[in-house]
Amino acid sequence: MLPWVVRRTGLPLLSLRCVDCRSESATTGEGRFRVNANGKLLDVWLLVRCVSCGRTSKLGVHERAPVSSFTLAELDGYHANDPELVASTLLDPLFARRNRFALDWNGAWRLDAPSARLDDAWPVRVEVVFDDPVPVRPERLIAHGLGLSRNEVLRRIKCDIPLRRPTSAGFTFTVLAGD
Ligand SMILES: [Zn+2]
Repeated sequence: MLPWVVRRTGLPLLSLRCVDCRSESATTGEGRFRVNANGKLLDVWLLVRCVSCGRTSKLGVHERAPVSSFTLAELDGYHANDPELVASTLLDPLFARRNRFALDWNGAWRLDAPSARLDDAWPVRVEVVFDDPVPVRPERLIAHGLGLSRNEVLRRIKCDIPLRRPTSAGFTFTVLAGD
């Protein structure tokens, strides 16, 4: 079984409408949190910037959360703008839903696929693993990874999940010999 790995190469952009210029793309840039303490309660935001006009917005991560509900590592992470914490916050589906944005993964991920010697033994089985939750269309990923046309993919690939529906959960497929 050949292992393929999908992983991010950076942080995805956010599809989020700017209230100033109506552009629909924002970035976390270097990744910065803002923390505001109010007695024993904390507000935490992730700052994002419109890629078109540069306007900064605050997206709520925690709202009036008791300081005692955070671990020390979390508090340090928010204050130090820890890149791993920025990434895990941005990729948290609940955070995206609460703040009404979708992730734009264009150019922010790659497929690591060992070069396949496809003539050796048929059929070939491939296991796709996701290191990061990048939604990919299996049909396109397989075409790209094997250098096949979409038509060849449809003809030669046996897969137990739908080829056209984006997924970010691991799957396996089988490549049948060409004609
Ligand atoms: Zn803007």
